[in-house]
Amino acid sequence: MEQCASVEREVDRVLQRFLTYGQRCEQSLEELLHHVGQLRAELASTAVQGTPLSATLSLVMSQCCRKIKDTVQKLASDHKDIHSSVSRVGKAIDRNFDSEICGVVSDAVWDSREKQQQTLQMAILEHLYQQGMLSVAEELCQESTLNVDLDFKQPFLELNRILEALHEQDLGPALEWAVSHRQRLLELNSSLEFKLHRLQFIRLLADGPEKQLEALSYARHFQPFAHVHQREIQVMMGSLVYLQLGLEKSPYCHLLDNSHWAEICETFTRDACSLLGLSVESPLSVSFASGCVALPVLMNIKAVMEQRQCSGVWSHKDELPIEIELGMKCWYHSVFACPILRQQTSDSNPPIKLICGHVISRDALNKLINGGKLKCPYCPMEQNPADGKRIIF
Ligand SMILES: [Zn+2]
Repeated sequence: MEQCASVEREVDRVLQRFLTYGQRCEQSLEELLHHVGQLRAELASTAVQGTPLSATLSLVMSQCCRKIKDTVQKLASDHKDIHSSVSRVGKAIDRNFDSEICGVVSDAVWDSREKQQQTLQMAILEHLYQQGMLSVAEELCQESTLNVDLDFKQPFLELNRILEALHEQDLGPALEWAVSHRQRLLELNSSLEFKLHRLQFIRLLADGPEKQLEALSYARHFQPFAHVHQREIQVMMGSLVYLQLGLEKSPYCHLLDNSHWAEICETFTRDACSLLGLSVESPLSVSFASGCVALPVLMNIKAVMEQRQCSGVWSHKDELPIEIELGMKCWYHSVFACPILRQQTSDSNPPIKLICGHVISRDALNKLINGGKLKCPYCPMEQNPADGKRIIF
């Protein structure tokens, strides 16, 4: 972070110099133009009178020429000075950041260059779709000649259409979507539909006493949610009492808070993504954030490995040489490390539960078989290796 700040300082310095240079440049050119304009008018009037050029005027003219030359020279030399501060930014980047980042990932991670490029392009594309930058995504599709089928795009297009409407405070498309996916939303314990109805109700309340009847009849939409959201429904009904006086001056003024709109966008994105099987954050942004945490650690390890000349340790392409803590945000599922092999279990080496209840990996189990029998390494119970059951976390 400190490195970023020091580069940013240099960039700020350049920007500041650009700004002052621009101002100074404009000012001196303006002055020059004014001067030349005056001279031109004087020359024109001399020409009209038909009198020869006076000595004073020719002196003024030669002075003017010199001034133009000086100003242009000064501007050019100032411009050159800016170059030096631009190059200082480059040096600051070199000084503060490691240029050898590529070294921490071995090329063996990718099957081929084409595969690498394709994966990266798809990740960028998905990120753009997820961020709602549809036109940029389309452009990338065309320029990279990536073939993206409609099934891939469709969920993003729909999500973005609804989110855009929500940003414009139009609840219609979101409500329609929530109603059509009601069952699956309920299975997810989502309160999206209720929150949308609540917002629509609040919107009617905000229009004042003339919408009271309409608001009351809209309240029927709360009926299916009565058992779960009783408290919130009571609050909304209570607010009706203050409708005549104006909700904004009542104890219920919090209902009119604009934060409800931000909240509904968040709830919608989260619930719709989980229903459609999409991640709330794009894989690209998650990888980027994880990389920011993991990269410094990996660079340190690389340096240590080079120092001790044990670079062969890091040969497995799907695994990092050590575990890196990325924080709770990056916990997506449980993992199990085999206590015997001290390795994380995987599809090819899954965790197996022995009949005594202890869990070890299949590779460890195979290694422990002796004469067709297995002795649990923890509670030395003897058992048939075939009785072990695979566990899925
Ligand atoms: Zn056991």
